[in-house]
Amino acid sequence: MKRRTFLGAVAASSAAAVLPDHAAEAHEPARAKPTKITLLGTGTPAPSLERQGSGYLFEVGDDLIVMDHGPGAHHRLLQSGHRAVDVTHAFFTHLHYDHCMDYGRLVLQRWDQGADKVLDLDVYGPAPIRRMTDLLFAPDGVYGPDIRARIEHQSSIDQFTARGGTPPRKRPAPRVREIKPGDVIEGKGWKVTVGHAQHVEPFLECLGYRLDAPDGSVCYAGDSGATDSIVELARGCDVLIHMNHYFSGTAPSPAYRAACGNHKDNALTAKKAGVKTLVLTHVLAQIDQPRVREQIVHEIQQVFDGKVVWGEDLMQLTFTAPTVAKIEGY
Ligand SMILES: [Zn+2]
Ligand SMILES: [Zn+2]
Repeated sequence: MKRRTFLGAVAASSAAAVLPDHAAEAHEPARAKPTKITLLGTGTPAPSLERQGSGYLFEVGDDLIVMDHGPGAHHRLLQSGHRAVDVTHAFFTHLHYDHCMDYGRLVLQRWDQGADKVLDLDVYGPAPIRRMTDLLFAPDGVYGPDIRARIEHQSSIDQFTARGGTPPRKRPAPRVREIKPGDVIEGKGWKVTVGHAQHVEPFLECLGYRLDAPDGSVCYAGDSGATDSIVELARGCDVLIHMNHYFSGTAPSPAYRAACGNHKDNALTAKKAGVKTLVLTHVLAQIDQPRVREQIVHEIQQVFDGKVVWGEDLMQLTFTAPTVAKIEGY
């Protein structure tokens, strides 16, 4: 059995029905298009061809929101049918590289292809996201010489003009807002509430996000061990996307468990928060194998009576049944 087919079977048996797209549409009343969630990258810092660095895409109305953009997440964004210029907002939970390494690619490709015709990206994240942005894109930043060459060399000016731009070209200037737990960001018909994640403080501030859309709510916990703050943030959500780095009992130390949790911790978090669906992500190869997957899902279901979804890169979900609207290539 092919890997994706097998994983589809796991999702179908343990969680929601896997149905073709038209079935999802049949359940959808005639109103605004449903919010769509795409798991761009469900991996960890460990190298993997199957799972890219952390990244999640939320299509709400006309807005396209990415949360985290780790290595490979941008490639998955392209595979999902979207481009950097389509993204309207980017949120970062924390600045571990597996969550932000494709930030440069997102901003530079948006700037390059946008030819000054798209708005600068709205970026939200914990400090020091502004400093990281300056260090990447300022004149004396990592990409400063590249940006200058693209603005000033005649060949680049000609290309910019061919794309519809009118020189002189502006520099990329993401509109960065540093945020903290308790903040609320309002969008067109949606809002994001910022919560505290328990991960690697005080070295990195770590956030979780709750997105309330017109048709439902989703909490992306970022990277977090078990903590009441994520339970509160996720309370009553349709979907909780939570890292599932470890099989219970296999974390290398108590400090690891506190920072990353395990599958039994996640089951309790989902139960206490009263969410409808728990999506497992940030999956290590160690547990991403037959029998272990089923055991984890089964043991979570002994505690949590909602749906459990074993996340995969490019898996798409909506708030309305069926939970899993489509698995790429399935
Ligand atoms: Zn992390
Ligand atoms: Zn991570």
